[in-house]
Amino acid sequence: MLSKTGVPTDDQIEAVKPSKERLAKGPVVIVECFQEIPCDPCYTACKQGGFLPFEDINDLPEMDFEKCNGCGVCIGACPGLAIFIVDETYSDDEALVIIPWEFVPVPEEGSTVKGLNREGEAVAEVKVKKVRSAGKNKNTNLITLIVPKEFAHEIRSIEV
Ligand code: SF4
Ligand code: SF4
Repeated sequence: MLSKTGVPTDDQIEAVKPSKERLAKGPVVIVECFQEIPCDPCYTACKQGGFLPFEDINDLPEMDFEKCNGCGVCIGACPGLAIFIVDETYSDDEALVIIPWEFVPVPEEGSTVKGLNREGEAVAEVKVKKVRSAGKNKNTNLITLIVPKEFAHEIRSIEV
């Protein structure tokens, strides 16, 4: 259970996943934010309408996946490191996963690292495709990983 282990349940993860049809169209956001806290910078960061308006600042984000273009801007706005991008269209057997990264060292582009699941277990070797800063005065980097497609919805961190 999330409050005891920090790990969301399968039902929680399924509930925030875009449809298969949307995933088949290209990169799209996945917001793994499951605790009601007074927080909404994700909503204000997105200029595409990907986040539906919050009625109350404690609301959990609700998405319009058709409006999301997978830009990743909201990743750098989220203090909870709860936002990811998944692109299942990268190749027949690989997907791209963009994760937030605020640790050192920052992985090098082109390097191979361990892909970790939500429990922190290494589940696959993944390649670092791109590293970009979330923007001026932000500590977050956006790390684009090439992952085996079967782990696109499991890998959410790395061991550098
Ligand atoms: S990835 Fe870009 S378009 Fe999609 S919800 Fe985030 S900021 Fe909006
Ligand atoms: S910014 Fe992050 S933690 Fe805050 S509501 Fe949005 S997704 Fe949740």
